[in-house]
Amino acid sequence: MKPIELSFEFFPPKTAEGVDKLRATRAQLAPLKPKFVSVTFGAGGSTQQGTLDTVVDIAREGIEAAPHVSCIGSSKDSLRAILNEYRAHGIRHIVALRGDLPSGMGEVGELRYASELVSFIRAEFGDWFWIEVAGYPEYHPQSRSPRHDMDNFVRKVKAGANSVITQYFFNADAYFRFVDDAQKLGVDVPVVPGIMPITNYSQLMRFSEMCGAEVPRWVARRLESFGDDRESIRAFGLDVVTDLCERLLDANVPGLHFYTLNGAAATKAICERLHA
Ligand code: FAD
Repeated sequence: MKPIELSFEFFPPKTAEGVDKLRATRAQLAPLKPKFVSVTFGAGGSTQQGTLDTVVDIAREGIEAAPHVSCIGSSKDSLRAILNEYRAHGIRHIVALRGDLPSGMGEVGELRYASELVSFIRAEFGDWFWIEVAGYPEYHPQSRSPRHDMDNFVRKVKAGANSVITQYFFNADAYFRFVDDAQKLGVDVPVVPGIMPITNYSQLMRFSEMCGAEVPRWVARRLESFGDDRESIRAFGLDVVTDLCERLLDANVPGLHFYTLNGAAATKAICERLHA
């Protein structure tokens, strides 16, 4: 059986305790031999140092680490400086995003969309970086229409992206249709599904509302019915997400990207069931 190409996403910890917790999480996930891990970035630069420190810490462990870089609210000069710093640390893999400005915070910046950020990186840094971009099988929540969103997505990939990580979803058909549509429009880079383990009902519903991912009614109702019974939520979530991953792997997806939320247990349990 072909090994599954795994990647894991973390966020930069804010406290010394969080740094230790993330190191422990990485140690627990390391036996799964991820192809790379990525570290998120607070739009507007709020986690800039934290993202850099975390990426450097991970790279020191010999694991390929890809920082997320978002352009909203940033000037070209500041983006150039961040990217130069990553290059100086030998980082060659990034996730390029528009990002979302926290409400009430500042100006849009010089680059309005991720496609413009990708073009900027290619123009300034050539092929130094392997560039991942985001894809939305259930469409970006602010998109004008599915077709408009797909056209923007195709433009972003053609600006020079090497690979795509999707927003998480629980409807595999949305992903399959998204990949088919993108391929018909000439997208020929890998589109890796983003996977969100289910461990907490209210958090899942909140995140999903924000990012436009649909939690199927039967899943939401079952999770809600468990109330504070975290064990049942975890067991049911493990079944649902493992089934989803199996369907995706049966269709030969290029890999699985896990939104770990800096925890190891749920991601590890799914990967063990998949024999990853
Ligand atoms: P874009 O591709 O620029 O698209 C944003 C919207 O603009 C879409 O509705 C699109 O249709 C529209 N659009 C694009 N181009 C045009 C155009 N030329 N004209 C008109 N409309 C256009 N956020 C963070 O802040 N930090 C992170 O670390 C982070 N990591 C993420 C990782 C992944 C894998 C994913 C899927 C999302 C992540 N996000 C992160 C969230 C992301 O920043 C938001 O979803 C954001 O709203 C869109 O970013 P994007 O790069 O997809 O934007």
